[in-house]
Amino acid sequence: NFCFANDTIIEAEKASIHPMDIGLIRGYGIFDFFRTFNYRPLFLNDYLDRFIRSAEKTHLSLTLNKEELRSIIHELIAKNDLEAGGIRMVLTGGVSENHFSPTKGSLFIFCEDLDFPAKEKYEKGVKLLALEHVRAIADIKTTNYALPVWHSATWKKEGAEDVIYHLNNIISESSRSNIFIVKDGQISTPDKHILHGITRKRVLELAPDTEIRQITLSELLEADEVFMTSTTKKILPVTSINEFKIGKGNPGPRTKKLLTAFEAMEQKSSV
Ligand code: PLP
Repeated sequence: NFCFANDTIIEAEKASIHPMDIGLIRGYGIFDFFRTFNYRPLFLNDYLDRFIRSAEKTHLSLTLNKEELRSIIHELIAKNDLEAGGIRMVLTGGVSENHFSPTKGSLFIFCEDLDFPAKEKYEKGVKLLALEHVRAIADIKTTNYALPVWHSATWKKEGAEDVIYHLNNIISESSRSNIFIVKDGQISTPDKHILHGITRKRVLELAPDTEIRQITLSELLEADEVFMTSTTKKILPVTSINEFKIGKGNPGPRTKKLLTAFEAMEQKSSV
């Protein structure tokens, strides 16, 4: 398995990072993650734009431009024969004298195997646990997922797939996915305190009448359908939240239709 690390393409086991990198000691870094489909990086342009935007917003310098990143990615797909997998780009804060200020960071691009949630989860839907929280600097894809990693023991014990964040009765997103609700045929999704997901963007293209607005926790619980979107889950039905059943407790028709349309888009898409 080959990766890009230490400014070149090398075998993944040879990649290294300085132990005092503030990515490690302060959790200061950014990343992005996309999939390959038929050896093509799916919706790559959107992911590269987001990665570059995250770097700019966190004051990290990406020494490679979009075209250079694109060419390394294509080289890695070919070298690793990555027909359908995941690609992770990480940029750390770097090593600094005061162990605090970002400097020239380390850029890594890794290829990974990727498993989608089990078929049963698409057929029956999943459970989310409501958690009072709002992500700080929500629109930057930082590497800091300390809270959800720590909290995952709780949601696993409860048989949940993940969490749904809410604060002052307003919902935002799940720990690694965006959220949509359907009520009386109308699709809606939160407007604030979210990462602007690429899968969310695709859903907004497939359902342009979606309302982007503030959504309350009670609206979520009373919705006919709820679904979550992410690169690794596509469009996954949510059929319960805490002890509450959503709608009839089965994946709804809009959710299923959107997943079919999304998968057709994936087939057609080129970068
Ligand atoms: N929200 C958060 C906090 C995430 O970490 C992610 C994905 O990792 C998403 C939403 C979904 O984004 P995407 O559809 O681009 O994977």
